[in-house]
Order: sequence, then C-alpha cells, then structure tokens
Amino acid sequence: MKALEISGLKKVYAGGVEALKGIDLSVEQGDFFALLGPNGAGKSTTIGIISSLVNKTSGSVKVFGHDIDSDLERAKAQLGLVPQEFNFSQFEKVGQIVTHQAGFYGVPRAEAKVRAEKYLRQLDLWEKRDMPARTLSGGMKRRLMIARALMHQPKLLILDEPTAGVDIEIRRSMWQFLQELNREGVTIILTTHYLEEAEMLCRNIGIIDKGRLIENTSMKTLLGKL
Ligand code: ADP
Ligand code: ADP
Repeated sequence: MKALEISGLKKVYAGGVEALKGIDLSVEQGDFFALLGPNGAGKSTTIGIISSLVNKTSGSVKVFGHDIDSDLERAKAQLGLVPQEFNFSQFEKVGQIVTHQAGFYGVPRAEAKVRAEKYLRQLDLWEKRDMPARTLSGGMKRRLMIARALMHQPKLLILDEPTAGVDIEIRRSMWQFLQELNREGVTIILTTHYLEEAEMLCRNIGIIDKGRLIENTSMKTLLGKL
C-alpha cells in the first residue's frame, strides 16, 4: 500500500514561477521519508499541494489511495500536517488548541480529552496545558504543532522543517518521539535542511532541485555515494 502517490505534479504560481516541473514520487506505508533540497527547490509547494493548501496546476496526488481531486475528505482524514510557521492562536490555551483540532475532525469530546493528555504528555507539554500558547518557547510551539497534527490519528504525518531553529537537546527528543510514532505504524515524511537529521531518521529520501526530483533512493544507497 502506498501512503503517498504523486504523479506529473506541476505548479506554476500566479506571476509565472514554475515551482514544480513534473514530480513523480511515491512513499510506501510505514516509511520514514525525507524530502531534501535547497531553499526555493519546491519542497513547501509540494507539501502545500498534498495538504490542499496550495492548488496544483496539473498532475495527481493520492493519499492512501484517495485522490485529492475526487476524494479530498478521505485523503485529509489520513493526513496530519505540521507546517513551518506557527499557525495557532497565540492567546488560546495549549489544551484547547489540541482539543479544538480534534473537534474539526469530528473526534468525540471525551476521546479528544484522552488523546490530548496522551500527546501533550508524550511531547512534554502537559504541564503547560492551561497556559496560552504565546508563553511557550519555540521548541514547545513546534511540539504543540505535532500534538495538534496527531489529534485525528492520521496514518501519514508530514512535517515541514520540524526542527528548524530548535536547539540540539530538544531536537533529539523530537527525533525520538517521531521514531517511536513511526514504529507504531505512522508513515512520516519530513523536509529538512539538516542531512544529519535525514540520516538519523529516514529510510528513504527524495531530493528536489529547481522543481524536479533529482534523486529518489534509500538513505543507505545515498550515503554510499557520498
Ligand atoms: P522550498 O520549500 O524548497 O524552499 P518553495 O516551494 O517554498 O521551496 O518555493 C519554490 C519556488 O516557488 C520558489 O522559487 C519560490 O520563490 C516560489 N514560490 C513559493 N511560494 C510562492 C507564491 N506564493 N507565489 C509565487 N511564488 C512562490
Ligand atoms: P473547556 O473544557 O474549558 O470547555 P475544551 O478545550 O474542552 O475547554 O473545549 C473548548 C471548546 O471546544 C468548547 O466549546 C468545546 O465544546 C469545544 N470542543 C472541544 N473538543 C471538541 C470536540 N472534540 N468536538 C467538538 N467540540 C469540541
């Protein structure tokens, strides 16, 4: 079963920038996959299209077999997204940010409370549950985004530069958390600048440059080539 299947994906932004020039990529269920590439390569555009925040120009995207054109609701139900920018209310409380998210996905309230406690504890945020988000450190905010993305228990978690600007100790604990999540069966795709991060975590890798996928291989094979 493929967690993600992208074919012939193109994106031309208004103004004419060709951000994606025909990407073909698939990620197997259970994989831990890194999407690497320099700034401006098209990583965020790809993630934006998968999560239907950005309209594609052409091509197709399937999440666990559900086409985002014809079956968007089911595709979305399988997908958790951790975007790069903090997009929660800074004034809302940590606990409410995650339970509200569960509400959007129709998770019953009692179940939402159970999950909120589970993920906030695992991400070391439980003590902060009654604090407004603005009081959190950058690393805590990143972890809050991860907890929130898990509240509907997606089978595929996509993270855009999840550890950017996070200090090494927190980065390590986030890595451990993601590895454990992957062991429990969640397919993970992340974009990163840190080759070390991809090396630590990922089994397979895609490298995007100037809107094209220039490498798609196992981490092992890539390291053999370097
Ligand atoms: P990456 O995430 O790899 O840094 P992006 O997907 O953000 O790359 O960007 C790919 C290309 O598309 C870049 O040339 C960028 O300037 C351009 N781009 C990104 N977002 C927009 C937008 N909203 N409007 C116009 N061009 C954009
Ligand atoms: P409180 O217990 O202080 O109301 P909650 O975070 O439990 O705080 O809920 C905040 C708001 O979000 C409430 O209005 C609640 O009805 C709503 N809410 C929370 N979880 C869900 C959910 N799973 N489904 C629908 N609405 C929810």
